[in-house]
Amino acid sequence: MATRFGLGYDSHTFGARRPLKLAGVAIDHPSGLTGHSDGDAVAHAVTDALLGAAALGDIGRHFPNTDPRWKDADSLRMLATAGDKVRRAGFALVNVDVTVVTEAPKLAPHIPAMRARVAETLGLPIDAVSIKGKTNEGMDAIGRGDGLQVFAVAAIERP
Ligand code: MG
Repeated sequence: MATRFGLGYDSHTFGARRPLKLAGVAIDHPSGLTGHSDGDAVAHAVTDALLGAAALGDIGRHFPNTDPRWKDADSLRMLATAGDKVRRAGFALVNVDVTVVTEAPKLAPHIPAMRARVAETLGLPIDAVSIKGKTNEGMDAIGRGDGLQVFAVAAIERP
């Protein structure tokens, strides 16, 4: 049994006049994230981690931001589709681990719901989905609150 890992990264700026959505969960905050879809950077980073683990390319190849189908789209749909593509390529999903770097809002109260949405979207048990929030200690653009960054790792295996 060969285990493979994939790394996903995403960043979006704040400033969009729509709800802040992370891992499919609407979070109370003065501004949402910019982007062609719903700006859900957690869904995007996990999507890229899964596609990367299977060496299937990236989110831009599978869900181009020039495609009107994905305009304001629910990014969990992209994540579900990516999970299906990885499974169709012959892999089982093992786990994902995510770090969200943002000064605000505080993510701790939302982590259980975020984990549940990602787990349900990918058909994984809740204990196979980890999401953590961190600040950037006030440093650089993330520290100023211009936007947020997400790092994700996914493990898959070929049974
Ligand atoms: Mg993105």
